Amino acid sequence: MGLLEGKTALVTGASRGIGRAIAIKFAEHGAFVGINYFKSREKAEKVLDEVKKYSDGMILKADVSDDMEVKKMVEIFVEKAEKIDILVNNAGIYRRSLFLHIKPEQWDEIMNVNLKGCYNVCRHSIPYMKEGGKIVFMSSQLAFKGSTHGADYAASKAGILGFMRSLALELADRKINVNAVAPGTIDTDIIASYTPEQREKRAMEVPLKRIGMPEDVANACLFLASGLSDYITGETIHVNGGLYIH
Ligand code: NAD
Repeated sequence: MGLLEGKTALVTGASRGIGRAIAIKFAEHGAFVGINYFKSREKAEKVLDEVKKYSDGMILKADVSDDMEVKKMVEIFVEKAEKIDILVNNAGIYRRSLFLHIKPEQWDEIMNVNLKGCYNVCRHSIPYMKEGGKIVFMSSQLAFKGSTHGADYAASKAGILGFMRSLALELADRKINVNAVAPGTIDTDIIASYTPEQREKRAMEVPLKRIGMPEDVANACLFLASGLSDYITGETIHVNGGLYIH
């Protein structure tokens, strides 16, 4: 028996990387999964094929920074799934830049996708959530440590935590749990530009001596999306192999 039998879950940015792993993990545990994607329908369809091996789901195109697209996406999801039990705000972007190279347009883009995107998705999804609902945000270790090449990204991921804690307090009356995951270095497209030497160096810096896998993050999300975390809200789980111990 899966941990999410009979539940419906909407996962943003689920066509690849961590979001893909979350969608498949949730399906393995019985959830009906809404696979949000931004550009690659083909990749999203492949994730849906994986999801269908275990459960069922649907693909949903939307740019999370676009309020109207998000509204439409949520309506389409609810039309089929009837409710939203679990919402995972995973979509995010990172642009490697020194602070003085961050142009105002880039600052706005990072904030609009990483932070306002969460606002848009929550704003339209929460009305469909009931008692027992779970919201999970994807923050980052950089929200805690700061970043040498991503002040905008670190600020957006720290902003997510303030938003998450506030929603946790506001939605506690409705028995909706709101938490975050803060991944360390995870093996996805976000670190695709690393050379093999950089990867090895980074792995050796991690106390557990490896770069994290998307499944490591998906496992933490599964816990936060399931009844196992019913008495946890406003909390952040660090998934970083000990790279940053809070
Ligand atoms: P990724 O680039 O592989 O995936 C990001 C996903 O977000 C993609 O599916 C992409 O299409 C989607 N996306 C981007 N802009 C979007 C938009 N405007 N609307 C809808 N979807 C959009 O990276 P990932 O590593 O899988 O990242 C997933 C999340 O985890 C992100 O929020 C990222 O910041 C966070 N994170 C990743 C790492 C890491 O080391 N990989 C570390 C800490 C936090």
